[in-house]
Amino acid sequence: MHAYAIQDSAGLVKLDAMENPYSLPPELQDLLGQRLGRLALNRYPDARVNDLRAALAAYARMPEDYALILGNGSDELISLLALACHMPGASVLAPVPGFVMYAMSAQLQGLAFHGVPLTADFELDESAMLSAIEQHQPSLTYLAYPNNPTANLWDEGVITRVIDAVGQQGGLVVVDEAYQPFAARSWLERLRAQPQAQGHVLLMRTLSKFGLAGVRLGYLMGPKALIAEIDKVRPPYNVSVLNYECALFALEHAQVFAQQAKEIKAQRAKIFQALTALPQVRAWNSEANMILIRVPNAGQTFQGMKSRGVLIKNVSGLHPLLANCLRLTVGTPEENQVMLAALKDSL
Ligand SMILES: *Cc1c(COP(=O)(O)O)cnc(C)c1O
Repeated sequence: MHAYAIQDSAGLVKLDAMENPYSLPPELQDLLGQRLGRLALNRYPDARVNDLRAALAAYARMPEDYALILGNGSDELISLLALACHMPGASVLAPVPGFVMYAMSAQLQGLAFHGVPLTADFELDESAMLSAIEQHQPSLTYLAYPNNPTANLWDEGVITRVIDAVGQQGGLVVVDEAYQPFAARSWLERLRAQPQAQGHVLLMRTLSKFGLAGVRLGYLMGPKALIAEIDKVRPPYNVSVLNYECALFALEHAQVFAQQAKEIKAQRAKIFQALTALPQVRAWNSEANMILIRVPNAGQTFQGMKSRGVLIKNVSGLHPLLANCLRLTVGTPEENQVMLAALKDSL
């Protein structure tokens, strides 16, 4: 294996990692700086972390009998879940192509990973999922809602039947809503409506795509008793005082981030429309802050865009279903114009 590769983006328009393109407004930068400066950096993180948990629970409108656990990004939570589930014979299952950390966390923990291919149009393959669940009885099944890199929300009926099947053989389902700020639906509504049937479902979110990728703050919500078990493998003080104070500050100004998400969704629609006018490009509908496209020659288009100063992600090598696919992160209006011009010139 190789270490997680991060592309060098120096001097390029950076549209490769689903980051929010907006920084904090200057007056908020000053306020945050003052707050961070006053923190007791000489002390271990204290009970203020509970204020953040309460603020996140309120922000997400978490159900009453749920609890939440914080992670240093949701990547840490994914690793902790693999650790928590590591019993003899345990395995992890997820649709592929999907988020790479599901397979990587399993591999690093020494657990088997079962990737179940999506259909050619990136929907869940219901019968393949159900038979893989029956065959492997996975401890942990991941469903990214919306999925990365395909950016779509899968059919709710199929997801419900997958969740039921996992529950029948005693496994857990993690619904990963990293892109929730940009999606039309959340699985939380279903959890609230059917708490009994979904008692083995955990809901994971992160502040990364919301606008705080640099802060590293993910959270996992679920029935109290389940979260208490996963909390046993969490390292003490896994979230720094700087992380949680930044996250608290951001939630106090949630309307600033909500406005940014609104702008990003409007830009997503504009980019999508521009893409549909390009006959060599196939674009898929997005419920996230990225758009997956297929071009005649992904390697050539990727390099052409890079030489024109725009960094995107060439995902075509990640899975056969992604042949000649590129992933475009939605940026500011100016960045998107530069990106679209570079794409046209590179096709
Ligand atoms: C980006 C992403 C995450 C995020 O991870 P963080 O560690 O919180 O930055 C999680 N899940 C999916 C599907 C993602 O695309």
